[in-house]
Amino acid sequence: MGYLEAQYKEEPFFTTTIDKVVNWARSSSLWPMTFGISCCAIEMMATGASRFDLDRLGVIFRATPRQSDLMIVAGTVTYKMAPVVRKVYDQMPEPRWVIAMGGCTVSGGPFPTYSVLQGIDYVVPVDVHVPGCAPRPEALLYGILMLQKKIQESRPGILEMIRGSLQRYKESKLLRPLAKA
Ligand code: SF4
Repeated sequence: MGYLEAQYKEEPFFTTTIDKVVNWARSSSLWPMTFGISCCAIEMMATGASRFDLDRLGVIFRATPRQSDLMIVAGTVTYKMAPVVRKVYDQMPEPRWVIAMGGCTVSGGPFPTYSVLQGIDYVVPVDVHVPGCAPRPEALLYGILMLQKKIQESRPGILEMIRGSLQRYKESKLLRPLAKA
């Protein structure tokens, strides 16, 4: 019998890490920005509707980037639209993730033209690519599950963030006297 088991014989318990709990909470409450650009957005809306029901995965669409941590870019992104996508992304708080949905978003799709961006990676960092024209809701669901898996396995976690902040604080305290001298 282990030490913990001996200590807590009567009470059930489990052990974990803060990183795992934080990553589990983040991956179980993804709030995507309500943001559709063209035909792929119809499939995205269908994924959120009752037949597929994204709510059961904790995925709830928000109407403002300030409450969103996931951007599903669904549609043909033109050069005119690209700065808007970036602006919305910039308004989302950290940590944030991006799913590129559909051939157009991933690589320009059937539009290798002067006006269409040949991949949203040029504008925002993409975590998961969902190919297809248009991908069915099952494909988007699978992409979301992949993103959840990625978040659950991600590092650095909360402890690294706290350590980094403390380190920066210490460094600033150490540098202050030097700056005065
Ligand atoms: S990938 Fe197909 S369905 Fe999606 S936006 Fe492009 S043309 Fe439309």
